[in-house]
Amino acid sequence: MTYKLNSCCEDLLQKVEHFICICEDGIIVWINKKGLRLLRAPNPDSVLATPIANFVSDDFVELFADGLNLIGEESEGVPLNILTTSADLIDVNFHVSNLPSRDGHEYHMVECQDISDLIRASQATRGREQRINAILKAVDQAVITIDEFGVIKSVNDVAVKIFGHEKPDLLGSNISMLMPEPHRSSHDEYLVRYQSTGHTRVVDQTNELEGLRADGTVFPIEITVTEVRENNGRRAYVGSVRDITTQKAQEERIRFLALNDSLTGLPNRASFNDKINEAVSRARRTGNGVALMFIDLDKFKPVNDALGHEAGDEVLKTVARRLQEIIRSTDTAARLGGDEFVLILENIKNKETAAKVAKTLLEKIPLPITINDTTCSVGVSIGISHFPTDAELIPDLLNAADKAMYKVKEAGRNNFAFC
Ligand code: GH3
Ligand code: MG
Repeated sequence: MTYKLNSCCEDLLQKVEHFICICEDGIIVWINKKGLRLLRAPNPDSVLATPIANFVSDDFVELFADGLNLIGEESEGVPLNILTTSADLIDVNFHVSNLPSRDGHEYHMVECQDISDLIRASQATRGREQRINAILKAVDQAVITIDEFGVIKSVNDVAVKIFGHEKPDLLGSNISMLMPEPHRSSHDEYLVRYQSTGHTRVVDQTNELEGLRADGTVFPIEITVTEVRENNGRRAYVGSVRDITTQKAQEERIRFLALNDSLTGLPNRASFNDKINEAVSRARRTGNGVALMFIDLDKFKPVNDALGHEAGDEVLKTVARRLQEIIRSTDTAARLGGDEFVLILENIKNKETAAKVAKTLLEKIPLPITINDTTCSVGVSIGISHFPTDAELIPDLLNAADKAMYKVKEAGRNNFAFC
């Protein structure tokens, strides 16, 4: 069974880059060379006079129940698997065109375009997308993609969680909705400037900034922005964002512990050293004076012995509180250790002003302290030195105040003295 084509037409169909055959009532009566190659057929005789449905995978034979008419109705063709003579399956787009009937027989032209590369590529793309989505789900960072205008194109689940917005509210919105002021107002301008000048403080860098949650709270974030080029050549930006609230709180706590006494919360010795330096530098600039007061509780050991160490701690905490209540917010009360405290009083013109503060201390610190239904009280010995009257250098000032304090102890305690 063969089919006569005029030579011009046959030439043309042989030149076509894909499978073409002509079927008479569903039986192959002509096939081009490309078609033989696709079917892995050694010669036309191994294919001609065979129903085209024989070269289709069993999964699709039902499509051929009405010959080729059913597929012929699909103008775009139908994707299916061709079964070759060597039993391989090939993905093709199977397209049928009706030809004029002759002598009561139906004729069709079948074109098959090998789409296995296309399918492999789309499977690879799908696989890649699935892998990327799996990674985005697994990371504990928010991942947000924006276009060159700042419009949010994609967000992962973590982004939804940490910013507290629903996904549909984020997609299509401007990224500035996740930023507090002043970044919110300046972001669009920033993007435009970056795109025209290439000047950036964000792209390809990791920065600590602030994020804005849906409920209006501002929180610290660490953000890394990477620029990507989309298929259309346009810029897009991928931001990975970490909520660093806990990390910041821990850092703050560590810093506090490094600079403050854990029992009373007052600045510790290290912090005191910084503060006295700062206060004296300020006083040198402004010409004002600084009073330094060394304070040691009187007979504190007996309180510990009588009421216990915990009660002693309570006394130290109460003294710390009272010191802070007496001084101004610009002054400093620090605990140097044990029952030793120190005050840095700024803008103290002369010793008389310092003496007034010392008298207040002598009045207020020994007030009764009640711990677990027991009342106790402690006196204070205060040694004072004044900058610049007594000394110009800090070690000398410290020394002078310390000596003055011991003078009070020797003289019977619960008093103050200048060096
Ligand atoms: P003085 O009148 O001469 O100052 O004698 P004091 O009894 O006050 O004793 P001193 O100043 O020589 O020693 C301070 C004591 O404070 C030593 C220690 O038993 C106690 N102490 C030091 N640190 C702490 C603390 O953190 N908690 C408590 N409860 N007691 C402390
Ligand atoms: Mg003491």
